Amino acid sequence: MATRGSSIIKGIQVSEVVGLLNKAYADEWLAYYQYFIEAKVIKGIMKDAVFAELTQHANDELRHADMLANRIIQLGGTPLLHPQEWFTQSSCGYKEPQSFDVVAILKDSIQGEQCAISVYSSLADTFKDKDIISYNMISQILADEVEHEEDLQDLHDDITEFVTQIKSTMR
Ligand code: FE
Ligand code: FE
Ligand code: MG
Repeated sequence: MATRGSSIIKGIQVSEVVGLLNKAYADEWLAYYQYFIEAKVIKGIMKDAVFAELTQHANDELRHADMLANRIIQLGGTPLLHPQEWFTQSSCGYKEPQSFDVVAILKDSIQGEQCAISVYSSLADTFKDKDIISYNMISQILADEVEHEEDLQDLHDDITEFVTQIKSTMR
């Protein structure tokens, strides 16, 4: 009784794949909202460059949620229907900004991406040679998360370097 999208899955239960994809789906919505709200409240040095990056990442996370929902449906599953489930199913959770300073916000987001990278790496291992379509999709998302982490780290390093230079000229 395999559905069209699940007939080529070997060595893993479709229900397990759907469960794991739904957990990633929850993470993507929370990541989307974290970037969305960070971009709204951010303050401080080089704010505009960071705003542009956060906004781009928010759009990427929403696109990831869309990819995951489509694959879940293709497998005959149902994407999480209630936002409350984002918190119960999420692996990386949600970190509300405690400070609106650019450096603090970048640090929070870097942590979030590091969690996403570890979750997607382990998902790629789980799906490899079992569900090729989900494996390929997860690999694409993983590549985006690696790029996100690197972009944020670069901004973080530029800003902290700039602040150090300003402080040294004021001495
Ligand atoms: Fe993502
Ligand atoms: Fe990301
Ligand atoms: Mg980027």
